[in-house]
Amino acid sequence: MHRCPLCDGDHLVYQFTHSTTPLVRCDRCGLLMRNPQPSDAELAAIYNEEYFLVPDEDAEGLKRRTAAGYLDEIEARIGTRSAGSPALRLLELGSGFGNLLVEARARGYDITGVEYSASSVRIANERLGAPCVLQGTIDSVSLPDASFDVAVLADVIEHTRHPLADIEQLWRILRPGGVLFIALPSLDSWSARLMRERWMEFKLEHTFYFDSSTVQLLLTKSGFEGVEISTGWKTLSPEYIIQHFKRFPVPGLTGAARMTRSLLPPQVRRRHLRVVASGINVVAIRSALPPLKDRPHRLSVVMPVFNERSSFPIIMNGLLAKSIPNVEIDVVVVESNSTDGTREEVRKFERHPGVKVIYQDQPRGKGHAVRAGLAHATGDYVLIQDADLEYDLDDYDQLLEPLMGGAAAFVLGSRHAGNRRSWKIRAFTNQAGLSQVMNVGHVFFTALFNVVYGTRLRDPFTMFKVFRRDCLHGLTFESNRFDFDWELVGKLVRAGYQPIEIVVNYRSRSFAEGKKVSFFRDPLTWIRACFKYRFVRLGKKAR
Ligand SMILES: [Zn+2]
Repeated sequence: MHRCPLCDGDHLVYQFTHSTTPLVRCDRCGLLMRNPQPSDAELAAIYNEEYFLVPDEDAEGLKRRTAAGYLDEIEARIGTRSAGSPALRLLELGSGFGNLLVEARARGYDITGVEYSASSVRIANERLGAPCVLQGTIDSVSLPDASFDVAVLADVIEHTRHPLADIEQLWRILRPGGVLFIALPSLDSWSARLMRERWMEFKLEHTFYFDSSTVQLLLTKSGFEGVEISTGWKTLSPEYIIQHFKRFPVPGLTGAARMTRSLLPPQVRRRHLRVVASGINVVAIRSALPPLKDRPHRLSVVMPVFNERSSFPIIMNGLLAKSIPNVEIDVVVVESNSTDGTREEVRKFERHPGVKVIYQDQPRGKGHAVRAGLAHATGDYVLIQDADLEYDLDDYDQLLEPLMGGAAAFVLGSRHAGNRRSWKIRAFTNQAGLSQVMNVGHVFFTALFNVVYGTRLRDPFTMFKVFRRDCLHGLTFESNRFDFDWELVGKLVRAGYQPIEIVVNYRSRSFAEGKKVSFFRDPLTWIRACFKYRFVRLGKKAR
């Protein structure tokens, strides 16, 4: 491979060699993969009859318990269904011996499996008493469009040769609103962090190694949304773990496992344990919109407007004239009942295609207006744009580039140039003293943010915040004033989205020109917000 199959980046950096092949990491999106990939012959030698040998009944019982846990997660996402609604159609890719299918059928699903190994297909269909499992791959079995409500991939995606193409196929096969569940090993699991190159999931047949970020990129690119990631519980027993290390030797651990076995009494060895080992479970919803490769990317610009009569039409006309290759732009204007005639200016744009206007009956702060706008944003990406002229629309292209390319999920347009001395933040022409105070304040608040959130940002409070809309999934916001900046950035960072900073053009307004930060009231709310949003519940499944 010369390019990353997930983001098309062309810089694959050697990491280390495991088994017979080197592992490389994509410099852009972070996907880790074998390069070259193991040959068909190598894989055939691994996927032999023994690989698909039915393990003992104990192990099958454990797998069924694990499968039941997966179905619980799926059902939590589906929600309650009315009595008498038709059976949900469930597809499992890589269904193995059919443990999950058995469990799903017992719960009333209409089940279909797809499995590559002919011997596993035979065993599963015998067990199910019906030919529910098709032999082949997602491509070869050619399932009809929108024919399933649920798709499951348990410990499968890390084995595939074309993960993105496979998930795009599942987008086609699932109905809009259908649920996709993936269980996979993750590089951000505790075991991967601890064991590093000796991680037990490094196996020759594992062709790709994901983490929370790359799996989310995989899903949002291929037409899924509302991605929720949780730590991957599995039901295991000490005996199962010991046997696993016997079968897949890991230097040091295999010996330790053998010794543990001789020390544990048999009844303890067979005890069922719920463990978090090396994986994550991912649930996502099949979007109505096709995968990104088949349509333009969509950007929603959220613009809070209050008393900006002179600048609003300028920026709005600029936005409507703006074009970015392969990007459709829509604007969500939130007008907070201005007193200077801005509302009349906003009305002139309300029928314009690609413009949605939300009229608030009173101003309740910029944070409140942005929150209202976010609730109506539908694009793949969201950009928050003030209705003043402090920032430059020409910067959009470079701000979007890392999002569209897959290098980041969250981008901040930094008002710093590359070297620390050239500040763009405050340079009001006639208020040198005040702008000095503001700059010192900015240093203080930036340092405070970085210490509390463990980041190294230079300008966390820039207006230019651009992120994949799916990052907001599951997060709730409550701030109404400028403390919303803290809440938004803080919660996104805590949810796992480390922003990258890109230098933008900036010309600050003075208070006389209409700057709305209250110099006496806001800083106190910022300090409060800083600590509060570091510790409140995110309301999102861990990521
Ligand atoms: Zn990549």
